Amino acid sequence: MSSPTAALVAPEVLAKYEPVIGLEVHVQLATRTKIFCGCPTSFGAPPNTNVCPVCLGLPGALPVLSRQAVEMAVKAGLALQCQIRKVSRLARKNYFYPDLPKGYQISQYDEPLAEHGWVEIEVEGVRKRIGVTRVHIEDDAGKSVHEGFRDSDRYSYVDLNRCGTPLIEIVTEPDMRSSDEAYAFLTELKQVMQYVDVSSCDMEKGHLRCDANVSVRLKGAEKLGTKAEVKNLNSFRFLKMALDYEIARQVGVIESGGRIIQETRLYNPDTGETAGMRSKEHAHDYRYFPEPDLVPLRVSDEWRARIEAEMPELPASRRMRFIEAYGLREYDAQVLTATHELSEYFERAAKASGDPRAAANWVMGDLAGALKEQGKEIAEAPVSAEHLGELISLIAKGEISGKLAKEIFAKMLASGESARVIIDREGLRQISDTTALEKILDEVLAANPKQVEQYRGGKSTVLGFFVGQVMKATRGQANPATVNELLKQKLQ
Ligand code: ADP
Ligand code: ZN
Ligand code: MG
Repeated sequence: MSSPTAALVAPEVLAKYEPVIGLEVHVQLATRTKIFCGCPTSFGAPPNTNVCPVCLGLPGALPVLSRQAVEMAVKAGLALQCQIRKVSRLARKNYFYPDLPKGYQISQYDEPLAEHGWVEIEVEGVRKRIGVTRVHIEDDAGKSVHEGFRDSDRYSYVDLNRCGTPLIEIVTEPDMRSSDEAYAFLTELKQVMQYVDVSSCDMEKGHLRCDANVSVRLKGAEKLGTKAEVKNLNSFRFLKMALDYEIARQVGVIESGGRIIQETRLYNPDTGETAGMRSKEHAHDYRYFPEPDLVPLRVSDEWRARIEAEMPELPASRRMRFIEAYGLREYDAQVLTATHELSEYFERAAKASGDPRAAANWVMGDLAGALKEQGKEIAEAPVSAEHLGELISLIAKGEISGKLAKEIFAKMLASGESARVIIDREGLRQISDTTALEKILDEVLAANPKQVEQYRGGKSTVLGFFVGQVMKATRGQANPATVNELLKQKLQ
């Protein structure tokens, strides 16, 4: 599919405008049970089996707020640098839809749990903060199923398993100025949420859902343009493509004398276009009001402090620390902090190795390659971080050569044994002991008088030949630096 964007407006026209983007992101909290009842949140259960009177909204059933969901939402707020309200309030958001048996979502309105935060992004070497307006908690609705039944041409079905699944909604300020910045924001957000174990952010399971608000204005203009809200962005790639399309569409409309209407638009991944769905000019009135069945949510200083103490170091700070403390290159620090598990693994290997940069190379090179080949995640690595660190330390100490280390590593991958165990069993220790080496050297020199002659006659490249012979005689176990040294002495 070629991009439909180019057909809309010429690049030099596009360049006169500045896009303005704000995101609304729903993140599913990783609790095992729902937010107001004890039903499981497990994915893929048979339809309408994970339900009870509370999440079905049956009359008389009362919600009980999950402590774990609140803790995770607080963690999310803290990780996004937000202020946490000591008292926030749950509110009913009323609307009528078949997948919403209660007739309302329980959300938060004018007193959200967390607000005034930010996320730092980097695009083309430029760092920038994107404001987080608010983070609030709410429950999810069910799902309408329009396809897959004998009578799907006439009927739709509902699966209410998802009703009451705990979510947070994260709303950003209109701070992004390109689709790349929006992409970078969502990438960073996902990484942070995964680091603090708030969500798996698995987009395929709907654990991360994003709507994008977009407007354009002439560069230099102060007033924001009228925005459209784009929905149905099921992947990071779609987010970027939908934004690029929508930006060009809006510029095209304005350039041809038209006016942007405030509306909700749906992205169509098959065509790469957005299409108007409903006008916001007669927007929903959700008739929000405080949830009468729940008391205000209080987060005491002590509770907040306890949650804060449990939080791991965030990826941005870890990246900086890896660069400063371990001398890693920026790119390597980026790769090695991609997930919490990977950054933990690297740090443990680095500590055990005594040579962090070598550890970085091994983790990103040999280990990553092996994991990819075996289709495994870092958490399932067949070589522990401590074992890898030890292997690297043995190279640094001169006990094994780099080449031998690769062979030992392959054996470690296969058996899960430590390098020491393998070396001792197979007698693979590098020979740096000069007396042992001298004996072999003497034999090699005696067996090759012609080459000795050549060397003494000034052909210094013959040295490489001798080193090769010694390595062969020791099955690669001689320390090449020591061999070089000894050879030079002997041949003088
Ligand atoms: P609404 O009243 O339609 O809900 P809000 O002011 O609450 O609008 O903002 C919703 C989202 O839209 C936020 O992410 C915000 O950053 C973004 N937004 C607001 N105004 C604009 C604009 N003119 N252009 C782009 N995004 C905007
Ligand atoms: Zn339930
Ligand atoms: Mg709003």
